[in-house]
This record gives sequence, C-alpha cells and structure tokens, in this order.
Amino acid sequence: MKLSVKVRLKQLKKVTLFEAYKNEEVLGYCQKCNNYGKNFSCPDFVFDTTSYLEPYNYSTIIMTEIDTQPIKAQIDKLEIANLSSRVFNNYIKEKPDEVVDIKDQMADKLIEIENDIDNTVGLPPGSCTKCVTCLKQQGKTCISKEALRYSLEALGFMVSDIYKQCFDLELGWSKGELPAAFYSCSWWIIQHMIRLNN
Ligand code: SF4
Repeated sequence: MKLSVKVRLKQLKKVTLFEAYKNEEVLGYCQKCNNYGKNFSCPDFVFDTTSYLEPYNYSTIIMTEIDTQPIKAQIDKLEIANLSSRVFNNYIKEKPDEVVDIKDQMADKLIEIENDIDNTVGLPPGSCTKCVTCLKQQGKTCISKEALRYSLEALGFMVSDIYKQCFDLELGWSKGELPAAFYSCSWWIIQHMIRLNN
C-alpha cells in the first residue's frame, strides 16, 4: 500500500529546543502511562537530559504527517478494546499482516543516517517497539542496546510546544474517531548546523 506522507523539517539551536523542556510536567504525564518504567526507552532514567544532550548544539525536528484515509480499513481491524497497553506498535508486532508499521521503519532510518552525519544522534518518536514486550519487564537486559534511543517526550520536552513553535500545529487527541492525519515527531541532535533541503 502506498501512503501519502508529508515531511517537514525545522532546525533549532539547543537553547531554543530547551524552551520546551518541562521535565516535571512531562514526567507527570509519563507516570500515568502504562509504559512508565516498563520500557528501556521510557522514564524513569538513571541519566538526566541535560547531560545526555551536552555534546550537541543543534536539533533538527522532523514532522511526519500521514493521511489516514488509505489506512482507515486496517485501523478499523485493531481490537482497541483488547489492548493491554496504549502503545499500539508493540501490540501490532503480533499482527504483522494486518497493519502498517511506519514507526519502526523511521527508527531504523534515523539510525542509518547517524552513520552519514558525524556527531549526530537520531531519536525516533515514542517508545521502543522492537519487541512485543520489552525485556525490562522480565528483568533482562535490552537485546538492542546499541540502537536504544529516546523520544523528545521521554527526555522531558513538551511535544505540543514544539509542534506549535516549529510548525504552527495544535496537537490534538481524537476520541473514538480516526483523525484526518497522524502526526509524528522525530529528531536529530547534532554538534554542528547542517544544510537542510526544504
Ligand atoms: S529492543 Fe526490546 S528490550 Fe530493548 S528497549 Fe526495545 S523493546 Fe525493550
């Protein structure tokens, strides 16, 4: 199936990115999520965001917009009432023929790009969904430590502020209805400014 995906980029100085850093408030939201403390890519972390981002000076925010109409039929097949987690992508690992998994493709692509740009880290949206159930829940170590990355929200940034600041978009939530589009925010954090072709 071909999906219409619109991508927009915005490059920010780290100091500007930190205007959206609201760690205590965002952590409060994370603590209400079923994934809190159950996934290596989600809080609570043993490191702090400022130290993690210390080597970098710029951030490139990647806004992906996916038109939902071509995937409406597949979304309708999800048994949402039976979900034990709000994290769809872990659930859909058990349904590989029924749904489209764009998020993992984006995460893999960002890590590929790290190899092309020196001193950069690609950070995908949301929690890691490589396993159906994160091994943290079994007290084991991550099977993919070298590819473990963190989303903006996991590191304490208010993503709705970044949507507004960078793309003039209001972040909304739909209840029981498919929205016209899905939005997803990924990012690179880098040492030096790079040229964007947008
Ligand atoms: S790769 Fe698996 S074990 Fe590691 S963070 Fe992702 S879901 Fe958890």
